[in-house]
Amino acid sequence: MRIGNGFDVHRLVMGRPLVLGGVHVPFEMGLEGHSDGDALCHAIADAILGACAMGDIGQWFPPDDPFYEGACSLDLLRTVVKSAGEKGFRLGNIDSVIICERPKLSPHFIQMRKSLSEALGLEEAKVSVKARTAEGLGIIGQSEAIAVEAVVLME
Ligand code: MG
Repeated sequence: MRIGNGFDVHRLVMGRPLVLGGVHVPFEMGLEGHSDGDALCHAIADAILGACAMGDIGQWFPPDDPFYEGACSLDLLRTVVKSAGEKGFRLGNIDSVIICERPKLSPHFIQMRKSLSEALGLEEAKVSVKARTAEGLGIIGQSEAIAVEAVVLME
């Protein structure tokens, strides 16, 4: 069994949709990024790559590659899981925490887990999504950014 750790942070900006775990969350701002800015998918993808010692998502999907402009991050996640599978790694479970002051994310957890579960080919009972605020502190507390931490077990 192998453990992987992933982290991501994206700036919140006006005029972008807020996408987390492939789910559109209604909010007046969204995450800046070359792809759809889905920091939850990015952190999970990085954790999977980490567990398998297969590099990081910056190497796999370079931010200066026009091919990935506006990319759906669930697709990036599918690519990573498929490649890990080809090396003999199978997902055990995922835990994640989104650090976000606004909006309230708990109403979307069920949908996020469902969407991630489908993309990863992993049952929902093994996909955990949680959130907490930054207690008003720093750039996350001021709603200027959202960060995500993820841990995965690969078998
Ligand atoms: Mg990212």
